[in-house]
Amino acid sequence: MSHHFDLIAIGGGSGGIAVARRAAEYGMKCAVIEANRLGGTCVNVGCVPKKVMWYASQLSHALHDAPDYGFDAALTMIDWPQLKEGRDAYVERLNKIYARNLENSAVTMIEGHAAFASKNSVIVGSETYSADHIVIACGGRPTIPDISGAEHGITSDGFFELESLPPRVAIVGSGYIAVELAGVLNALGSEVSLLLRRQHLLGRFDVMLREALLEQMQDDGIHIATGIDLSVVERDSNQALTLHTYDEHMMDGYDTLIWAIGRESRVDGLNLSAAGLVADNSGFIAVDSFQNSDVPGIYAIGDVTGQAALTPVAITAGRRLADRLFGGKQDARLDYTNIPSVVFSHPPIGTVGLSEDEAREQYGDDVKIYQSRFTPMYYAMTARKQRSMMKLVTIGATEKVVGCHLIGDGADEMLQGFAVAIKMGATKADFDNTVAIHPTSAEELVTMR
Ligand code: FAD
Ligand code: NDP
Repeated sequence: MSHHFDLIAIGGGSGGIAVARRAAEYGMKCAVIEANRLGGTCVNVGCVPKKVMWYASQLSHALHDAPDYGFDAALTMIDWPQLKEGRDAYVERLNKIYARNLENSAVTMIEGHAAFASKNSVIVGSETYSADHIVIACGGRPTIPDISGAEHGITSDGFFELESLPPRVAIVGSGYIAVELAGVLNALGSEVSLLLRRQHLLGRFDVMLREALLEQMQDDGIHIATGIDLSVVERDSNQALTLHTYDEHMMDGYDTLIWAIGRESRVDGLNLSAAGLVADNSGFIAVDSFQNSDVPGIYAIGDVTGQAALTPVAITAGRRLADRLFGGKQDARLDYTNIPSVVFSHPPIGTVGLSEDEAREQYGDDVKIYQSRFTPMYYAMTARKQRSMMKLVTIGATEKVVGCHLIGDGADEMLQGFAVAIKMGATKADFDNTVAIHPTSAEELVTMR
């Protein structure tokens, strides 16, 4: 095998696979270097197994509601090992599909850990590989706090290794992963405490979403504690965990502790200095809007850049980069504005564009808000209730829609189309001119007054 390539991607996750396969479509000789399982975070310990668990918890809610619709359904305990086995088997199938896709695209797969040897070469084991273009797509890993006993906790990676449903769980954090795992575990039968260091969850989201989710999680029986800053974690001889805070509070009796306090980049071990690169103060690789690093011929995409850590962002950034480098599309780049995102909470959240606070900061009195709060028809028949809320953030005389924020059943599937409209510059009048689909929750978005 020749050891020189047109493009090498370090990391066989969402971004690395996307950039290499697109470059190969242009006839380039490409390689992907992967130290672990193909597919990266999303496929192995992220979006995919998480969504399977979310489906399981949606089913649990549906089974709970079924008798209210006249079904003779009894919710018994979930067979966790069966669920895990099926989920793991699905992920393994995906690993194989990704390997086959690389093969079909004639991309060389190199197994092992890559470290820079120079600005155009990397070492994997005892081999050196060079390339005209090297794309750093090595992703990130969960952050574990630097406190005594932190090792008694697990992260989202460990969550996917759990062999049984943990009876009593503490989750530390307030972001996507904390609320998603709290919702799943609660729905499947764990007793869940969510420990927030501040007063809110999902800090960067629109305040309506943050407050509505907090209220719903509490209604669903999740214990939410605020102002918790852990100092020490202890495990006793019965394996029970005790959590101590800096202000000398104590919480005990947990069997599982999950750290969900953010993710850090995985650049250590890459030997960046050999390429003349330095990570920024937060450990990420700084890039310009075309994914160029400070060193010509070296690029970074996906989570390692510290921008919008989402799978479709990594994929699109990778494809656009290949289009620019090899497809003659000089201006190809990912526009990082108006990136839609869904939190798979219970109920799910869909959000795109500016929050109300961000809009008011930028546009002051030019902002007009439309908001709707309702209980979907599904709950007319059920004892369990769950509200939906929607908000449109508009600006100026034309009432251009610059933000759309949804929480409620179906928000996850509802948002994509509205995100297209907002990306195209839709105004409130465009929403109003669209005939509603009835009876749905989505119709509220085109009938707001
Ligand atoms: P990764 O997918 O992390 O891939 C990086 C790869 O590089 C890894 O396979 C790693 O083993 C490899 N690697 C690292 N260093 C080296 C090296 N030196 N040599 C060789 N290989 C190396 N996003 C969504 O859009 N929707 C979701 O629902 C969603 N859910 C998530 C749930 C969880 C629990 C988590 C943790 C993340 C979730 N994400 C979700 C985020 C998403 O998974 C990431 O944004 C995405 O995987 C980033 O892709 P990437 O290519 O940048 O990195
Ligand atoms: P997030 O960045 O979403 O949230 C982590 C939050 O935890 C921080 O914002 C902070 O909130 C809080 N926190 C930080 N340090 C501490 C600490 N020491 N103690 C207590 N709380 C702390 O990180 P996640 O790990 O949840 O997820 C990482 C990224 O992965 C997400 O940002 C997202 O991009 C992606 N992801 C996407 C998903 C999706 O698309 N559905 C699902 C899962 C992950 P505060 O400052 O308010 O305390």
